[in-house]
Amino acid sequence: MTAGTFQFHMPTEVHYGNGLSGKLSEIIRGDRVLLICDPFLYKNGTAQKIADTMKDKKVTFFSGIEPNPSCESVDAAAGAAREAQAQCVIGLGGGSSLDVAKIVSCLVSNPGSIYDYYSGGSRKLEGRTTQLIAIPTTAGTGSEVTNVGVFTNRTTHVKMPMLSKLFWPDISVIDPELTYTLPPAVTASTGMDAFCHAIEAYWNKESQPICDMLSMGALKLILENIKTAYDKPEDKEARGAMILASLTAGISFSQTRTTGIHAVSFPLTTEFGASHGTACSITLPAFIRKSREGAAEKMEVLSRYLGFKDTLALADGVEALMRSMKMPVRLHEIGVKEEDIPHIAKVGLTAAIIQLTPAVMNEETVSELLRSIL
Ligand code: NAD
Repeated sequence: MTAGTFQFHMPTEVHYGNGLSGKLSEIIRGDRVLLICDPFLYKNGTAQKIADTMKDKKVTFFSGIEPNPSCESVDAAAGAAREAQAQCVIGLGGGSSLDVAKIVSCLVSNPGSIYDYYSGGSRKLEGRTTQLIAIPTTAGTGSEVTNVGVFTNRTTHVKMPMLSKLFWPDISVIDPELTYTLPPAVTASTGMDAFCHAIEAYWNKESQPICDMLSMGALKLILENIKTAYDKPEDKEARGAMILASLTAGISFSQTRTTGIHAVSFPLTTEFGASHGTACSITLPAFIRKSREGAAEKMEVLSRYLGFKDTLALADGVEALMRSMKMPVRLHEIGVKEEDIPHIAKVGLTAAIIQLTPAVMNEETVSELLRSIL
């Protein structure tokens, strides 16, 4: 293989280890902290337990983050951050809380609403003085090491990513113990989201050697550990491996971006209610089959590395793995009907990342792919 020309930039400092979320005082800048999480992590005491280890700080909580966070939740959290005059914003949770923390840390010093900056807004984020710390509690999104935030416009029901160099967290604290409470269904869907990140970075038209190696390692770790994490939620080895894989996959796609799987997932989430991980992985086997169109040789190498005889066997193996974790593998299982397909394809095609897929992506080809898994 010739390496060609490529760049790699991932400025987030990463701290990995069991129990590290209890040692934040040492890394926080300033005294006033806003901790952003979802209602589950607040009610089950995780957020308070972490705050209790920061006796020298004034910690305010914002615990109203919903899955696929809306711009309205972002604005409410930004209000709390401004009122608390937060010097540090901590995102604790899955991708939803982490993404909100990213933009809120910017809105402390940038005026107005997220709508002023996001998707057609007329303002530009002008810098960030507030420290941003990300603490993932799902092993899935990799948001802790990306410059992306994904937000949903509640009025239009459009879910779209927003990119900013200000969204790279200053520090990410990866504490595998925080994932022990993940229920099996969330372990499966978020873990397969990480699988999608890794494979979409690998077959991406913008792929590059560092990311290829990160992706291959992440994919292997997921195949070796996801079922154990699903069956035994407190298995230390499997949980540690899954969050490491999610982190590694996140670093990989932070350079390349994702592809068709993620583009099509947006309408499957906003219009059919599928969780992010489910909305992504339901089309994963079909996109693996499709990837042979533009990345045949590379996918054969990957498939053999992962222990499959060829790319079709990899697709079948992934589908069987998903079935073994009771995940939907056909679109009708999440309520999609034949007549919905052209619309899903059309909306998916509005996300620019779809053209990074190693295959021709237009209304006809995307509809055909979706029909193959109806
Ligand atoms: P999530 O943050 O929406 O959380 C899903 C559910 O899991 C919630 O009900 C939450 O309470 C629960 N949960 C979280 N941690 C838990 C734990 N330790 N124990 C028990 N329950 C727990 O889910 P997610 O899949 O992590 O994030 C999805 C969001 O992230 C989507 O909006 C997606 O678009 C976005 N995303 C962002 C990036 C990025 O780079 N910024 C990448 C991929 C996805």
